[in-house]
Amino acid sequence: MVNQKTKVLILGGGFGGIKTALELADKPNVDVTLLSDQTNFRYYPTLYRTATGGRLSASQIPLGEIFKARDIKIVHDTAKTLDRQGRKIIGSSGRTYGYDDLVLALGVVTNYFGIKGLKEYSYGIKSIEDAQELRDHIHKLILDEGKPDLNYVVIGGGPTGVELAGALPTHIKHVMDRHGLHDKKLHIDLVEAAPRLVPRMPKEYSRAVQGRLRRLGIKLYLNQTVQAETTDSLMVSGHPIKSHTVVWTAGVTNHPFFSSNEFSLSEHGKVKVDEYLSAEPNIYVIGDNADTLYSGMAQTALYDAVFMADNLARQAAGKRPRAYRPKKPIYVTPVGPRWAAVLWNKVHLYGWLGWLLRSVADFAGYHDYEPWWTASKHWLAEYETEDSCPTCTGG
Ligand SMILES: Cc1cc2nc3c(=O)[nH]c(=O)nc-3n(C[C@H](O)[C@H](O)[C@H](O)COP(=O)(O)OP(=O)(O)OC[C@H]3O[C@@H](n4cnc5c(N)ncnc54)[C@H](O)[C@@H]3O)c2cc1C
Repeated sequence: MVNQKTKVLILGGGFGGIKTALELADKPNVDVTLLSDQTNFRYYPTLYRTATGGRLSASQIPLGEIFKARDIKIVHDTAKTLDRQGRKIIGSSGRTYGYDDLVLALGVVTNYFGIKGLKEYSYGIKSIEDAQELRDHIHKLILDEGKPDLNYVVIGGGPTGVELAGALPTHIKHVMDRHGLHDKKLHIDLVEAAPRLVPRMPKEYSRAVQGRLRRLGIKLYLNQTVQAETTDSLMVSGHPIKSHTVVWTAGVTNHPFFSSNEFSLSEHGKVKVDEYLSAEPNIYVIGDNADTLYSGMAQTALYDAVFMADNLARQAAGKRPRAYRPKKPIYVTPVGPRWAAVLWNKVHLYGWLGWLLRSVADFAGYHDYEPWWTASKHWLAEYETEDSCPTCTGG
């Protein structure tokens, strides 16, 4: 018997890809395969917490757990080549994956803009491995050498840099206290090329975030350009800052899959899509990869996924697709303990109430992918600490 179902192949097991697959799981006319190079879902919004002593389980969820009892085929491979004629994807394993409809949700990759030494010497915060490496490095300096670094430098005043810088003082002080280093003075610097932090937000939002960071003791270097990094220093606008701990959060670029497979890209390097998020016939692009108004946020990837799944199911059932309408996200930036800045349409909120809202949003974020009981488990893990060192764990 001929299989009448539409074969949907989704590339990327992140916010957009997983949600598209989940939404399609119960639809009768589709046969879904999710291909990802990771066996876990990375929950990026809490990576800064994992890097600063938070539990690992708050930032990664096994795909097998999310898709338990779902009629979805999950494949572990890295998508390399698109064969348009043959309607198939070729993976780095050499295996091929056919499709009727292809959904691309591959996310973005780190960009060092060719700045000398950054790739070699800086730490990142784009993966679980990055977060663990940074956390272990902070610990190692204290454990092995008996002293913390004198300067910690975070590069990039976007939300990720701000969140990380805000969380560092409490974490480093906690580790130092545990190791009996009470009287050491810490320097945490945040470097941003624009004249203000979170430059895409309204000025009032930037002012509040800057004020909060200064109160936490973070030194802000605004309007400053990073020029080079060596093993023990960072050159910023002609001045060296001594440091063994530089974290680069300032640059991402679209996934190389799109340029190597000759997609049509916008001036932002994202894939041009039409009102159905289609880049080419039967090929759709969502989340960070698509050149849409609010691309670059998990909320947008999630929204795109729900839209995409609905349209694919409609088409499989012989119905007309709906046109895409961008949805403005809610911006929430946590800065240090129990404080967050929120911009919800025109409403600004700063402080403890903002932090509470972020906490609720995180629960909703997990619950978008899991039933409430497992979502609660991951959400609660966000408020627990996980130290790799026995001194810190004990008591
Ligand atoms: C540190 C950090 C904090 C963030 N905080 C927030 C926040 O608080 N709020 C918010 O709204 N947004 C936040 N974001 C942005 C948000 O995470 C992204 O917008 C979102 O992940 C985009 O979803 P996506 O599906 O497009 O890509 P991703 O979620 O990145 O998923 C892409 C997936 O594709 C996989 N993949 C990559 N290459 C291949 C390949 N060749 N073959 C197969 N699979 C592949 C990847 O491993 C990944 O699983 C944050 C991002 C970072 C890095």
